[in-house]
Amino acid sequence: METQTDILTAIAPAGGETRTILDPATGEAVGQAPVHTVADLDRAVAAAAAAQPAWAALGHEARSAALLKAADAVERHAEELARLLSREQGKPLNGPNARFEVGACAAWLRATAATALEAETVVDDGETHAQIHYRPIGVVGAIGPWNWPMMITVWQIAPALRMGNTVVVKPSEYTPLSVLALARVINAELPTDVLHVISGGRDVGARLAEHPAVGKVMFTGSTATGKAIIRSSADTIKRLTLELGGNDAGIVLPDADPKAIAEDLFWGAFINTGQTCAALKRLYVHTDIYDDLCQALTDVAAAMPMGVGLDEANVLGPLQNKAQFDIVSALVQAAKDSGARVLLGGNPDPDQPGYFYPTTLVADIDNDNPLVAQEQFGPALPIIRYDTIDDAVSMANALDVGLGASVWSADLDAAREVAARIQSGTVWINKHGAVDPRIPFGGAKQSGYGLEFGVEGLKALGVPQVING
Ligand code: NAD
Repeated sequence: METQTDILTAIAPAGGETRTILDPATGEAVGQAPVHTVADLDRAVAAAAAAQPAWAALGHEARSAALLKAADAVERHAEELARLLSREQGKPLNGPNARFEVGACAAWLRATAATALEAETVVDDGETHAQIHYRPIGVVGAIGPWNWPMMITVWQIAPALRMGNTVVVKPSEYTPLSVLALARVINAELPTDVLHVISGGRDVGARLAEHPAVGKVMFTGSTATGKAIIRSSADTIKRLTLELGGNDAGIVLPDADPKAIAEDLFWGAFINTGQTCAALKRLYVHTDIYDDLCQALTDVAAAMPMGVGLDEANVLGPLQNKAQFDIVSALVQAAKDSGARVLLGGNPDPDQPGYFYPTTLVADIDNDNPLVAQEQFGPALPIIRYDTIDDAVSMANALDVGLGASVWSADLDAAREVAARIQSGTVWINKHGAVDPRIPFGGAKQSGYGLEFGVEGLKALGVPQVING
């Protein structure tokens, strides 16, 4: 079994420019990442294009078998992958964090291997016989963010590989080591050149999005970058799946029991220290239970330890980078300046090393406050009071993003009625952010388009071809 040092040595660049990656909790060096260039990307795309026909010719059974072996390999290396992820991304080993993320990588590889996409017969009436088949696209580009770097890479590459495509991955410049290490483990189970990782900056991402030999881009990241990718991809009419930013609302109905739901609400909002696309980022609570809910949530939040990820006691970590720390600080400051009431946190310690922002709950805040209206992507949750369901629904729908949302109630029918009125790709009931490899996931409005996971996710990595006759 490889150790942490072995895995870092194995992915260390053999030459060329490098960059030192720093631990966001301590400022210590984690390792050296290669700084690949656009020329490196072009070489990787050419190699992936050359390898694609043979990979496609292997057929579904052999590709699924390779994904299952990759899942086994991830499990064999789970602990060293989790430790590297914790050091580079900042997330603790425990809680729904680093070990959980590596476990999800194996789970998604297995689920993708097990999902079958059959040809669909659309007409068979004796005269006409028409079927839809899904053919490989060719080379797929995968561009990812820094919050769940390993898991999101698997979400992108597993269905792409399963469908007979080869893949070139461009990880976030903040978390390249995690993706390089994961790809090294998976690549041991794949033929040469089927999966490449190019660890460059935004110029490399932009080239991947416009590259004439790339047939599809799977992108997960901010809405602003998603718009840039749509523009870059226009000349080649590239297929796109865009999983973009969110600002998920949760609506708590008056019949909910504050104490019973407080811990699930907490993790819905604070999973990965709030740095999660489909985390609960705005909480709307009926006035009848507002004070009790604020108290119950404060009690839960105050008891959750935050600190360096490798310390087994912690379940919350630092922000991943200084830019994100500054965004969260500025949004909470704006809320304070507006007269909103800070229930917990809001006071980062200037002497503490690392980008730690304390768990923060803000009450008595208006819906147009920047902490509500903008994606904070960190450990700061605004709690907004409402009087009528119509008000809550209209506040929840007021933004131009719509990734996830949730409704909390003891009455499932009432909750489903409210859910149907919310403009988002998913509405969870009495939970928030639960993703499942069998259930399609994607955004409404400016949170993106296209679906990931399950049969719908496989369809998105194929070109539909109708055989009529
Ligand atoms: P980001 O958009 O800054 O960067 C994402 C990736 O895009 C990086 O690899 C970056 O190098 C690359 N990139 C930057 N400019 C590019 C360009 N012009 N062309 C091509 N690639 C380019 O996002 P981030 O800050 O890393 O991630 C946080 C954001 O991602 C949040 O808004 C979050 O909500 C969103 N997110 C969404 C989902 C989802 O499933 N919808 C999941 C995770 C994160």
